[in-house]
Amino acid sequence: MQKIHSLTLLLPIFLLFASCQSIDEKAEKIHNHAFTVDTHVDTPYHLLNKDFDIGVAHPFKKGGSRVDFPRMKEGGLDGIFFAAFTSQIERTEENILAARSKADELIDSIYSACTKNKDQAEVALSVADGYRIEKDGKRAIYIGLENGFPIGTEISEVERYYNKGVRYITLCHTSNNDICDSSTDKNGEEFNGVSTFGEQVVDEMNDLGILIDVSHISDSSFYDVLKLSKSPVIASHSCARAICDSPRNLTDDMLKALSKNGGVIQMCILDDYVKAPDTTTIGYKKELELRERYRKAGKMTEEEEQKIWDEWRQMQIDYPKDKPTVADAVDHIDHIVKLVGIDYVGIGTDFDGGGGLKDCVDVSQMMNITKELLRRDYSEEEIGKIWGGNFMRVFKRVEELASN
Ligand SMILES: [Zn+2]
Repeated sequence: MQKIHSLTLLLPIFLLFASCQSIDEKAEKIHNHAFTVDTHVDTPYHLLNKDFDIGVAHPFKKGGSRVDFPRMKEGGLDGIFFAAFTSQIERTEENILAARSKADELIDSIYSACTKNKDQAEVALSVADGYRIEKDGKRAIYIGLENGFPIGTEISEVERYYNKGVRYITLCHTSNNDICDSSTDKNGEEFNGVSTFGEQVVDEMNDLGILIDVSHISDSSFYDVLKLSKSPVIASHSCARAICDSPRNLTDDMLKALSKNGGVIQMCILDDYVKAPDTTTIGYKKELELRERYRKAGKMTEEEEQKIWDEWRQMQIDYPKDKPTVADAVDHIDHIVKLVGIDYVGIGTDFDGGGGLKDCVDVSQMMNITKELLRRDYSEEEIGKIWGGNFMRVFKRVEELASN
């Protein structure tokens, strides 16, 4: 009798353990089968730091990089887009040239990192490259250009960046540029969407087979791009505005238009896009101050730029935020799937550009997203679509429609 009683007590514990284990195993299996891709990380800035070795696993440290090749493998991530990011400052000839050389330097650092670690990673230029590199048991490293600022008003620059391996361009960043209006420019809209030069850029990107990234662009720019582009587009790192009211996120109407276009939104895990921030904390005010200083600084020397980055890293240590969770982020996926179906959503974390959750701090913890999707009864096939199937479909279509 006593024996039966203790067994009865143990049963729920055993069942709980068994179900946890099966979710872990299922997640592992999905990551082994699917081609998984994160479409936006800002890791290249770390590559410029001579002391950072991307070929070695680093324990997670606040202010340190959230991405390296061994941790990508641990997190079951096959492909990634490294963003060559330049911030938007005053559009003078001198500043454009400086942004161009910075973007080139970042791109070159991606090639060097892959050459140095050729047993672990390789630069990928096409859909086929990604699958081949994965088969070889390596990480596929794609290149994105975050902000079209380095293009200036030189249309030939688009092809030069294509030839350097860039496969998506985020048309603008936090302020307007010569291509289009931004969703967060302090002075509002300048062109009411895409400029005349921007129309040429969209055309050229279509022709070359460069994905058009609508993250960061204003709502009117977004609708203009959908009208102008012959190919489907992506939002490489954005969320749903219905869940978190940020101008960086897409409204339900935009999500519907994106699905009609055949494009994809890659859910971002940057806290302020996942959940509205607590604007009363000292950390929030400090962050605003630093952003404002950075915006006003204009062209900076290497040392000045490094100083801002150091301050940014220190701020994360001194004023840790109460980050949202994987469950909060997956609420965005749920919303998008309910609204437009399973075929139009993926993942673009923005690691090293502000991305990271309480329970997904770095690329080694990516499977926590998969486990949450499994808990919410997404099937293996559906999760495969979210982890890369949808994005690669769009990428393939953009390649097919290019008229090289
Ligand atoms: Zn961004």
